[in-house]
Amino acid sequence: MTDKYKPKHIPSIKGTKDILPDEARKWQKVEASAKRIFELYGYREIRTPVFEATELFEKGTGETSDIVIKEMYTFTDKGGRSLTLRPEYTPSVVRAIIENRLNLKPQPMRFYFMGPMFRYDKPQKGRYRQFHQIDIEVFGEEDPAIDAEIVQMADFFLKNLKVKDTKIVVNSVGCKECRPSYLKKLKAAAEKEKRRLCENCRRKMATNPLRIFDCKIEGCRDTAKNFPKITDSLCVECETHFHQFCSFLDLFGITYEIDPRLVRGIDYYTKTTFEIVTSKLGAQDAILGGGRYDEMMKDFGGPDICGIGFAMGMERLLDIVPGEEDKQEFVYVVCMGEEAKGAGMKLAKRMREAGRETLIEYRERSLKNQMARANKLEASWVLIVGEDEVKRGKYQLKNMKSGEQIEEAEENILKIIRDKSF
Ligand code: AMP
Repeated sequence: MTDKYKPKHIPSIKGTKDILPDEARKWQKVEASAKRIFELYGYREIRTPVFEATELFEKGTGETSDIVIKEMYTFTDKGGRSLTLRPEYTPSVVRAIIENRLNLKPQPMRFYFMGPMFRYDKPQKGRYRQFHQIDIEVFGEEDPAIDAEIVQMADFFLKNLKVKDTKIVVNSVGCKECRPSYLKKLKAAAEKEKRRLCENCRRKMATNPLRIFDCKIEGCRDTAKNFPKITDSLCVECETHFHQFCSFLDLFGITYEIDPRLVRGIDYYTKTTFEIVTSKLGAQDAILGGGRYDEMMKDFGGPDICGIGFAMGMERLLDIVPGEEDKQEFVYVVCMGEEAKGAGMKLAKRMREAGRETLIEYRERSLKNQMARANKLEASWVLIVGEDEVKRGKYQLKNMKSGEQIEEAEENILKIIRDKSF
């Protein structure tokens, strides 16, 4: 056989990972908790396609954002269209609202979403090329109370998952009225300190100077500490909004820190921005980030409706959710012989119909071997179905925790298993 025909393993793509069954349980738990809590606040799920027209993200996420400049998975389809695997969710939701005229329904609209995102970033711990986000969007509510409510909801969600050592950081990035004059001041300050900034920050000076605050290089961070603060340059409307937002956080008893240098990596933010960070994840410390995007819907040719939301990284969150695994209770059916196998299969079917997880394995094994297997899998009960039991119509049921064993007819077994009364 030449090498060409040798079966070969095809590995996964760098920056992607498999979520194996043990871990998937934890994902399900987090997703179920998100769904439950968000629905308590009136959010409803929205699902949009994984790929969209490239233009949607160029316009929505912003042409000067790192995502659009270097991180998009863009390809041309067979019809010659340029498509992009979504790097974030908000532009898709905005598109869906306009396209489906959801804005004609009562406002505010509250949506949530969970699913994969794609960014061609340098893979490392906490940073993947396919990663997952839980996303929240509210459209049509100007009141800063909603800004505080979604921060409180995120905080409640994390507390519910027993996540500890987190910090809430908030800021305002102003609006199209007050930001331009601030950017001028910032540019002038950066120009003076140009020599102390990295190449990347010097490029940002021309394209989007706010982003200098995002730089992770120590020297740039130190230099940027002395740059003017945006919170000193807010217009009256933005300042009032920010002040009220903070008072509502106080009202909820939320502890937070104001960081005037908190800017987010995406172009569209106005007024409120916030992040929840953790001390447990090293360099990739942001679990979630969000803020307002009051101009976005209008910029997409839609109605003039303001928006706010956040996106939470599932992989990072899963890393810090304490992992006590809740084992599902289940029945293991032990069958001895061909006739018993048929009876066991029927019993298993009925127990599943009664809502109890039931495992039956078809490989020939001795009773001892099957019991050992049930033990290893941590079955809660074992139902023993042998030829003799089938003849008598009565089966042995063993409670694996207490070690007790009873003999009962089929109907009783079903009742006991359903009610967990043994
Ligand atoms: P962003 O959409 O950039 O504001 O990110 C929101 C959240 O998504 C971040 O706080 C992270 O938790 C998570 N996140 C962003 N990029 C990645 C990535 N490449 N890999 C894993 N998680 C990510």
